[in-house]
Amino acid sequence: LHLTQIALKRKPDWPKRVARAEELAERYSWEREVLRFYSRVLELQGELYEKARAASESATLDQNLRTVLDFSAAAKDLLRMIAVVERHGPAAMAEAAAEMKSSGAAKSEQLLRACAAGETLSPVEYFLALTVLQPYAERISYASAASNTDSGRGLCPVCDGKPLVSVLRPEGDGAKRWLLCSFCLMEWEFRRILCPYCGEQDNDKLPLFKPAVDTSAISVHACTTCRRYLKAIDTTVDGHAVPMVDEVAAGPLDMWGVGEGFQKLQPNLLGF
Ligand SMILES: [Zn+2]
Ligand SMILES: [Zn+2]
Repeated sequence: LHLTQIALKRKPDWPKRVARAEELAERYSWEREVLRFYSRVLELQGELYEKARAASESATLDQNLRTVLDFSAAAKDLLRMIAVVERHGPAAMAEAAAEMKSSGAAKSEQLLRACAAGETLSPVEYFLALTVLQPYAERISYASAASNTDSGRGLCPVCDGKPLVSVLRPEGDGAKRWLLCSFCLMEWEFRRILCPYCGEQDNDKLPLFKPAVDTSAISVHACTTCRRYLKAIDTTVDGHAVPMVDEVAAGPLDMWGVGEGFQKLQPNLLGF
């Protein structure tokens, strides 16, 4: 008898992500335009997720998630994402996106496959491809029996994606750490005193910085050995936090981290 161990998987809730982006846009004037734009992107991603969910009640995953995505369906969605960027995105990005409209299905599919394979893309190509693929990837990683328990690896156990953000969630009397995958959006368990990049385990070398800005639940979790950092979102401080959205809203912490000589382990969708 073989049982796959699975920690609690968080149900994908796209409407909640949209609402959080809108809420934070009201709260943080410094990221208002970016968050309003992101809320429109999340809205379309939610539609794509529902479509992917309707297409497959369950998902089996006996191959690498990055090779089994429905690239031809996603290629058609790329045009819709381009339209969102043209309409709501920053001017330079909108211009670059508009140039991709005439790409054609074969080229669009090629771009999506390149993104899934982790190839280097231009910032706007990366943004478009990743935002379109995330809902498909999340559908499979959520619906499949893929394990998300702590293996001590700093890469997503389902798709080998790098972590975007560290999340503390209440557990018993304390909190447990999870890492959010930048590609398939699944959270996996990860011990607190361990650098996901270089494996450092010395607590003194893994400082948590809380710069004095209005984001009390968010800090910079750095490693002084490899000089990498991730933002950490503490949901025991703010239970309404939605990690992938709050991460984008806390842009000033990236400026602070980079100013201190740290490099972000994985830039977000917007390249920060
Ligand atoms: Zn993943
Ligand atoms: Zn490290």
